[in-house]
Amino acid sequence: MTRSPLKAHRRITVKIGSALLVDRKSGLKRAWLAALADDIAGLRAEGVEVLVVSSGAIALGRTILGIERRTLKLEESQAAAAVGQIALAGAWDEELRKRGLKSGQVLVTLGDTEERRRYLNARATISTLLKMDVVPVINENDTVATSEIRYGDNDRLAARVATMLGADLLVLLSDVDGLYTAPPATNPEARFIPVVETITPQIEAMAGAAASELSRGGMRTKLDAGRIATAAGTAMLIASGTRLNPLSAIDRDARSTLFKASRTPVRAYKTWIAGQLEPAGTIGVDEGAVRALVAGKSLLPAGVVRVSGSFARGDTVAIVGPDGREAARGLVAYDAADAVRIAGLKSGDIAEVLGYEARAAMVHRDDLVLTPHARQDRTEKAEG
Ligand code: GLU
Repeated sequence: MTRSPLKAHRRITVKIGSALLVDRKSGLKRAWLAALADDIAGLRAEGVEVLVVSSGAIALGRTILGIERRTLKLEESQAAAAVGQIALAGAWDEELRKRGLKSGQVLVTLGDTEERRRYLNARATISTLLKMDVVPVINENDTVATSEIRYGDNDRLAARVATMLGADLLVLLSDVDGLYTAPPATNPEARFIPVVETITPQIEAMAGAAASELSRGGMRTKLDAGRIATAAGTAMLIASGTRLNPLSAIDRDARSTLFKASRTPVRAYKTWIAGQLEPAGTIGVDEGAVRALVAGKSLLPAGVVRVSGSFARGDTVAIVGPDGREAARGLVAYDAADAVRIAGLKSGDIAEVLGYEARAAMVHRDDLVLTPHARQDRTEKAEG
């Protein structure tokens, strides 16, 4: 079977499990991290953008603090995360810097990826880091995330990050080298599965019983991650990270399971937008703006003639043409108050009015879906 090498990808998110980076007794595994940094530098040299989702804060914090007990209270693991994260990020920065790369720490909580408004914000920051040639080193903000509102596992967090940034590949590095028909440790009949076309109930059955505290980061959360990633058009690899240079090993001879990306990912996302039941507001636009939308462009403030409703950045709004009909729906990039202030303005004048350098589009084309009749109306007119 031939697979595209990692360097053939545009943007890769790599998730690293705690056990790979941290030894309970001796702490951070420097040599391993250094070798992984070599791999990342290699990919960067090929022009691949790399995002790192690094676990290990809690494990490292425990080692530094000398906590031997098996289970910790929530506030104890939060404290351990505070101690571990600073050391972890420092080590990443040092190793990447030695290889001529800059790094930036990003700590996110569940709300930052699940609430549309905060999601757009986090996405804007991380993509700015990528534009600035920085390797984002991401983890959950374990120090403040409480049990009800936390991911708890970095598999799903990494999948959300990968899809948020439109990565074409997510690599989950841990101590398992892929998916088997049954747990290989206990079942000698277990067969390795190199490629998963779609995550069927049959595949799910292979992941074993429901998640428990102990199975955090187990196969169950990896399949959850796979579902999130592939539905949004990001392929996923499960590969072992136990050897040195695990990323280069994937291209050479290491085993890994590839979860193929869905072929209609954009449609799924746009269906989600179009499916919002109650738009939070309405943006009235001129005919020129509708034509631009039909041509696949973003909605710019210049074409906006009217704003109504009390929406917040990231909410869904209906975009209505001069004929009073809904032409499109999308996620708005401004709060209603700011949208009113910049309606009708040329992009160059926005910063002066708002007092900050803002995004050019009112609704970005990626976050926008046309109403079927909008296109029909315009193409018929153009033909007739
Ligand atoms: N965020 C946790 C940490 O850095 C790891 C979560 C996981 O193991 O997936 O310690």
